[in-house]
Amino acid sequence: MDQVSWLKRRKPGIKDAKKRDMPDGLWRKCEGCGEIVYHKELERNLWTCSKCGSHFRITADKYRDILTDEGSFVELLTGLESIDPLGFVDSKKYTDRLEAARKKTGRNSAVLTGSARLGGRLAMMAILDFNFLGGSMGSVMGEKIARLTRMAIEEHVPLITLSSTGGARMQEGILSLMQMAKTSAMLARLHDAGLLHIAIQAHPTTGGVTASFASLGDVIIAEPGALIGFAGPRVIQQTIREELPEGFQRAEFLMEHGMIDMVVHRKELKSAVVKVLDFFSDDRDRSEDTLGQARRQGL
Ligand SMILES: [Zn+2]
Repeated sequence: MDQVSWLKRRKPGIKDAKKRDMPDGLWRKCEGCGEIVYHKELERNLWTCSKCGSHFRITADKYRDILTDEGSFVELLTGLESIDPLGFVDSKKYTDRLEAARKKTGRNSAVLTGSARLGGRLAMMAILDFNFLGGSMGSVMGEKIARLTRMAIEEHVPLITLSSTGGARMQEGILSLMQMAKTSAMLARLHDAGLLHIAIQAHPTTGGVTASFASLGDVIIAEPGALIGFAGPRVIQQTIREELPEGFQRAEFLMEHGMIDMVVHRKELKSAVVKVLDFFSDDRDRSEDTLGQARRQGL
């Protein structure tokens, strides 16, 4: 059989399928620039592309490892699990979705909560996991964040939240929306106690989480290129029927417009957080600590 007729006889799609079929875990395609990146190199760069700087989405466990001092993280509030208060069914049962998310992530909620040290400083930490139903906030996430915030007040330590989420969890209806008020109220108590909340926003931070605790940081840090907003750009464009400006709802755009304080590359994220913790802590040189002092005096 000559080559031409062999090519014609081939089933369509075989070549493409083979091309895409790269061994999982060895190589990843960068969604930013299309470059194929070796897994080991990605890991060295904390899952950011060395060519274009794109930040890949990572799990809560990886953020924990990147941000906290080795071996210092103690997981807290592990016993809370979602129930299905509405008996919600869309294309699948909510209970089945929960079960699949538990299997996929090895955790039983969309947020990892605990205490940890960062640069030697103790803090309470909540890290959302996008792999668990899109990091959506249901009753359990709201309750865990509220309880963790209360622990931060009792222990008199700062709170750090890291968000990566699609927003409120629709399968829990109004109960999930109530978590916005609950977390916000508890954060107001943290504020009244003169304690620091650092809110980190990773890609994407949207919906009810943006409209509550993720935007209530005393200092808000975002990862480069992160989409941050309440409603998505498509919904807004369709509603106002106007072209949106370039870079709309991206971290850099939001910093330019005063919504966030810093855009920090993941490789610099820990040192940036530690700097902020140092700056607001009580035990540093008081003469430099003007902001901290102003804070304690309630100014
Ligand atoms: Zn890239």
